[in-house]
Amino acid sequence: MPFLLRNLTLNPDEEEAALRPLVALKIGVRESEITGLSLVRKGVDARKKGRIKLVYTVQFALKDESGLTVGGDLSRLAAVPPPVFPRLSGAGGIVIVGMGPAGLFAALRLAEYGLAGLVLERGRPVDERARDVARFWRAGELAPESNVQFGEGGAGTFSDGKLTTRVKDPNSRYVLEQLVRFGAPPEILYAAKPHIGTDRLRCVVSGIRERLLEAGFEISFQSLLSGLKLSRGRVSGVVVNDAVERPCRHLVLAPGHSARDTYAMLLEAGVALEQKPFAVGLRVEHPQELIDAIQYGAAPHPGLPPAEYAQAYNNTRTGRSAYSFCMCPGGVVVAAASEAGGVVVNGMSGYRRNSPNANSALVATVGRVDFADGSPLAGVDFQRTLERRAFAAGGGNYRAPAQSLLSFLGKGVGRIKSSYRPGVTESDLAALFPAGVSATLKEGVLDFEKRMRGFISCEATLTGVETRTSAPVRIVRGADLQSVSHPGLYPTGEGAGYAGGIMSAALDGIRVADAIAAMFLP
Ligand SMILES: Cc1cc2nc3c(=O)[nH]c(=O)nc-3n(C[C@H](O)[C@H](O)[C@H](O)COP(=O)(O)OP(=O)(O)OC[C@H]3O[C@@H](n4cnc5c(N)ncnc54)[C@H](O)[C@@H]3O)c2cc1C
Repeated sequence: MPFLLRNLTLNPDEEEAALRPLVALKIGVRESEITGLSLVRKGVDARKKGRIKLVYTVQFALKDESGLTVGGDLSRLAAVPPPVFPRLSGAGGIVIVGMGPAGLFAALRLAEYGLAGLVLERGRPVDERARDVARFWRAGELAPESNVQFGEGGAGTFSDGKLTTRVKDPNSRYVLEQLVRFGAPPEILYAAKPHIGTDRLRCVVSGIRERLLEAGFEISFQSLLSGLKLSRGRVSGVVVNDAVERPCRHLVLAPGHSARDTYAMLLEAGVALEQKPFAVGLRVEHPQELIDAIQYGAAPHPGLPPAEYAQAYNNTRTGRSAYSFCMCPGGVVVAAASEAGGVVVNGMSGYRRNSPNANSALVATVGRVDFADGSPLAGVDFQRTLERRAFAAGGGNYRAPAQSLLSFLGKGVGRIKSSYRPGVTESDLAALFPAGVSATLKEGVLDFEKRMRGFISCEATLTGVETRTSAPVRIVRGADLQSVSHPGLYPTGEGAGYAGGIMSAALDGIRVADAIAAMFLP
């Protein structure tokens, strides 16, 4: 049985080949005794600035195990049997809406059981979508059905492809292995903070599509779920593009958090929806070298990844929090609108994370007190109002309002250097938000500065507005994962309000697929 050894440290300039002699030294065997050494986890310990270490957990076997006692950092690695999927068959009637991580992983998982169905995606295939997005960024021409939110791959396709999640789920390894199978870099299997990068993600997405077609799925692009058909109170069909009806017994609904027309259609159809708190704010952008210096306390070392950060602040008096979110080291700020006349920002990096800037969302929590009323879609209206204000402040053509961090805080002038395309216009960003939100964003930055000296810099730029942090709505489901109002409807992923991020959306899609597969068991 293999062993696991934790807490091996190397300096950033040491080769990973140095791990073998280090293991031998730590457990007191000759190097030649060690077989099959591989990485299980690799992280950065940046607690002591200027003395940054890489920290490893490795797995290995020994030719002769006798005499080796486990304990401390050394343990035995229990073998995890690969998942087994019974082959199922049935009358079918499975429809999956949305080809983001939730919909794609629901479909992949159903394929493991030998099940297939119809996949509806309102947007275009990933390569055509990439051209539509490039045109939007270059010329400000928004394609309402093919953009950063809509199209094959879902919202995370033009992202950093960060795969970190706080969700503890036994299927996490399965998701990572599937991503590697379809072209993600293998180090996501052991990196403490795995990421794929937008360039590699696009290949992964088309690889998954090929697999689904092989498994017998029918994939229909530019096909919007526009209505539901019911029979005896349960879902019996779907309406596509207001024109075609297709039969359906199990509807996996994974529309993402930006499908506002779909939320409205569901509300109209009487599907149980409820309001959900989320967060809004700005993108803050610094030179990556500055973040490296703050986090590592030294000039960047080629053996270290571009530094990251995650900060949070809570105002116990107001109950509002501010936090950094979706940080993209070596990335760019992107135009992420999906609705005409609104400006939305987000962040993205390539696999190499080699752009000169780091960016992160800087957001404050919002909820019922900020919305006009308690209706399920009031959070959507709140988002839309901010996006339209940002559009007006940017001066049209999807230029975004921007301001130096110093000027936002009233501490000086600073410079504006935003990577956002098609361009930015200097504006008073605080004026875009309700007073309580702006105040919390400012308090948050002042608090971050206590732990990250230099964060408030004349080189930091803010671009707005970041409104699509998570779903403003929950499509309420029960313990059986079906809509509490519409049996046969399985809301899943970020848009349903049950996930936040690529990993958790994929895991939620799998959970729903397993629940549907259980219905097909003999
Ligand atoms: C720019 C950007 C960067 C991000 N970076 C990261 C990151 O680094 N790491 C991370 O974990 N998360 C990131 N996220 C968030 C992440 O993308 C989402 O959490 C995740 O994609 C949610 O997955 P999902 O499948 O639930 O929904 P989505 O990915 O939003 O997919 C929904 C799909 O449904 C389709 N659709 C919607 N309505 C309909 C309809 N009526 N009919 C047919 N099709 C429909 C849409 O076109 C879309 O393809 C980022 C998001 C953005 C926008």
